[in-house]
This record gives sequence, C-alpha cells and structure tokens, in this order.
Amino acid sequence: MQQTANMLYYEKNEVPFLRLRSFEEQKWLNHAFATRLGGVSTGIYASMNLGFGRGDKDKYVLENYRRFCSAAGFSIKDLVATAQTHKTNILRVGVENRGAGILTLKPWHDIDGLITNEADVSLCVYGADCVPLLFADPIHHAIGVAHAGWRGTVAGIAAVTVTAMEREFGTCAADLLVGIGPSIGPCCFEVDEPVVKEFLAVPAFADGTCMKNKGNGKWNIDLWDANTKILQQAGVKKIEKGMLCTRCRPDLLWSHRATGGKRGGMCGILSITEALK
Ligand SMILES: [Zn+2]
Repeated sequence: MQQTANMLYYEKNEVPFLRLRSFEEQKWLNHAFATRLGGVSTGIYASMNLGFGRGDKDKYVLENYRRFCSAAGFSIKDLVATAQTHKTNILRVGVENRGAGILTLKPWHDIDGLITNEADVSLCVYGADCVPLLFADPIHHAIGVAHAGWRGTVAGIAAVTVTAMEREFGTCAADLLVGIGPSIGPCCFEVDEPVVKEFLAVPAFADGTCMKNKGNGKWNIDLWDANTKILQQAGVKKIEKGMLCTRCRPDLLWSHRATGGKRGGMCGILSITEALK
C-alpha cells in the first residue's frame, strides 16, 4: 500500500484500486475506487473499463467487474448500478435489487444517487472527471453514493443525498462521514462564464471562493470545495477529500477531458459488510 495524493493505493492480482483512509477505518464497510488499469478491454477502453454502453464489448466490461470486485473484496452479484444523468434523484435500494445494472439491464433512469442500510448491497457510482461522493452513517449503518458533475454540484445533489438518508434511516448529518473520490481537480476544471454564472447563483457559492478567474474569459472551479460547502451547509462535519485529479493522472485514471470522451469509465463501490443488529 502506498499513498497517492490523499488516497491509499492498493494492488491485488495486478488490479490497482484506491481507498479513503476514513472509510477504511469503518470496519462495517467495504469500499474501493477503480483505476483505468488491470482490466481486459482494448483500444480506447484499455484496460479497466467499467462503463457499459460506451461501445466496448459487454463481455470485457463484465470481466473487468469480476477482476475489480475480486481484487477489492466485493461480489459481482451484489452490485447495484444506475444510469446517471446529472439529475438529483436518489433511490433507496435493497437486497432485492442486487445485480441491477450489471448482471441485468439498468432498471432505472435519471438516478444519480443510491442509498441503503442493508448489508451486501454494493452501491456503484461512476465518474471520469465527475465527482463520486460516498456517504456513511456509522450510527445507523446506512450508506449512500452520489454522482456530482458540475450540474449535480450546482443542483446540490450532495445535500439531497443527506436529506434522503435523514428521511429513510434517521441519519443525523453531524454523524455522517462523506468521502470525495478521484475526479477533476481545481488545477484542471476550466469553464466559461455561463457555467460560472450558474455557480454564483447558488447561495453557497455566491462568495466566489470555489472559483478562480484566470483573466482570459476562463475560470477554474474547485468541485471538491464546492461539494464540501454544500455538505457543510447541510450539517456534515466529517469530509475527506481524496485530492486526486483525474485529468492530472492519465497514467492511472480515466478523464473525460483528457481523452476527449474517447475512454472507458471508472466506478466507485461502497457496501455494508455488517448491518446493525
Ligand atoms: Zn489536475
């Protein structure tokens, strides 16, 4: 194990994966983020592509899931995945949904966040620049994942996920642990004025501290900081940022911007290994 940015880097059976220290300390959980390495896909998808429907062969994507799950300690039959579309809909899932989106077709659309309090239901979140968020409530043994691209960040999906966990599991935001996985960093996320205006219209971002004007009609936005602000406003106190930029590490990670969209997809997985009795 070694340190990569603020993340822990592991390799098993030649499959690398990344973890967050604060989540690793929660012994009732398992979690891991994939990289672009250690899979069987070829060409623009080489080699660990975990995105179905990107043009890669399904049998390769499935084999990649098998390898990633086996390395990181998950069972492929427990995975639950959805088609993420930059919305803020959160869905509660359970053991009856295991396999959905991986071994069977994705049964839902427009779902960008999943929550559960059942053991062995492994929640998947995708990204290749967009911010993958992990949520863990150690009091109620409940978890969530959410996909926050810039649109989801502006729409406050991080806070919507907290609210869903409060409603479904009695979670208290102050107890929550939230992790920010590999995604495009403030170093590389450059946007034009229309996007800046959308950020400035959100009260949490109105002071402009999560963005930097480059003076050439471009701004850099810090999605890690922006999501942190949204979470803090929702009452979350414990937030761990992986600080690992996808665009800066094309050797290790998929980046939509670095590849011009010709790429595979990464997945973060979070599951409860021990439900609260
Ligand atoms: Zn970067």
